[in-house]
Amino acid sequence: MRFENRRASSIQLSASMVVSMAARALRAQGRQIVDLSLGEPDFNTPDNVIEAAIRAMRDGVTHYTGPSGLPQLREAIVAKLARENGLDYTPEQISIGVGAKQILFNLFMGVLESGDEVIIPAPFWVSYRDMVEFNGGRAVVLPCGLESGFRLTPSQLAAAITPATRWVMLNTPSNPSGAVYSRAELQALGQVLAAHPQIGIISDEIYEHILFGDTPFVSFAAACPELKDRTILINGVSKAYAMTGWRLGYAAAPPGFARMLNKMESQVSTCPSSISQVAAAEAMNGPQDFLHMAGAAYARRLAIVMEGLAGIEGLKVCKPAGAFYVFPECSAFIGRRTPDGRRIENDVMLAEYLLHEGGVATVPGAAFGLEPYIRLSFATSEEQLRIAMAAMTRTLGLLE
Ligand code: PLP
Repeated sequence: MRFENRRASSIQLSASMVVSMAARALRAQGRQIVDLSLGEPDFNTPDNVIEAAIRAMRDGVTHYTGPSGLPQLREAIVAKLARENGLDYTPEQISIGVGAKQILFNLFMGVLESGDEVIIPAPFWVSYRDMVEFNGGRAVVLPCGLESGFRLTPSQLAAAITPATRWVMLNTPSNPSGAVYSRAELQALGQVLAAHPQIGIISDEIYEHILFGDTPFVSFAAACPELKDRTILINGVSKAYAMTGWRLGYAAAPPGFARMLNKMESQVSTCPSSISQVAAAEAMNGPQDFLHMAGAAYARRLAIVMEGLAGIEGLKVCKPAGAFYVFPECSAFIGRRTPDGRRIENDVMLAEYLLHEGGVATVPGAAFGLEPYIRLSFATSEEQLRIAMAAMTRTLGLLE
């Protein structure tokens, strides 16, 4: 009996989940493991959000909603986009889903024809390529390494466009590199795209509130208003408000795309949890002090990681401008030997070595389409980060 069809066998279990499962298995054997593999805030959801969800349950907001969600949520999203991003959308242009992840999946499922090309700058979030390919598209991966600050350049973009190109995927701030595009950089990419009206832009802005550098966050549609009618803005409450488990993401899109996304949502999951919808509206409408608290905590954690990594000879580190990841280049360690004589052939082996010998779980660059790198998440306590830095220094120092 076949358990999966050709499409299902063409995709992988998310790489970060594989690593964290391995970390959990080692913990179950009694090993001390610092897990830097996960892409989620370690804070609890803010109290005002939790209270709003409890009230919603007591008030009977426990039924299906329409696929486009509760009006109060759509209005909260419209108000957020106007207030924070300077973008003007109507509630009809908003679609919601079970996390930004599901919105992206619904989008690719609803727009891609077989062989449509989707340009994806690498390193990219682990799911983009699998989602595109599962839905019949062709992922055109463009390497954007440390030397270019992990950002796609206009000339790279122009050279990759073919008659089959239908979408360009942008992610700012980026998971895994932490790169943030400036307004001028987005406009330069926009200029290239202006000449290709058949190409749409998917702008994943889920880390917009987690910023460290001098580059302010700019939404793609705000930088390039002339391209707003072919831009799909993707965002959600998971990262900003520590709400990963509530599973609520959204898209702001031209009306035709929004209608299609609502249709997909109606067949895929009817609607995201009604309780999460109320909670997400409160997250956006309510007090925003959580963002400052979390931002300050991430900045302190980043300082610990940057100091720790600076002491490890061989790692090349670009300070992230946003999100909560560092993505050091590790070519100096490829080809070296472990104390028991094994040769480190690639970043997958290096991450395995760090996990088993050092007790630190990281995700190899291969999962993000760019090697040799490793991704470290600093969405964990300062104490854990200090332990991890010491363990990495020791373990990498043993490689010969
Ligand atoms: N986009 C990026 C770049 C992410 O890193 C993630 C989660 O890790 C998502 C989207 C999905 O977020 P959600 O929890 O809203 O599905």
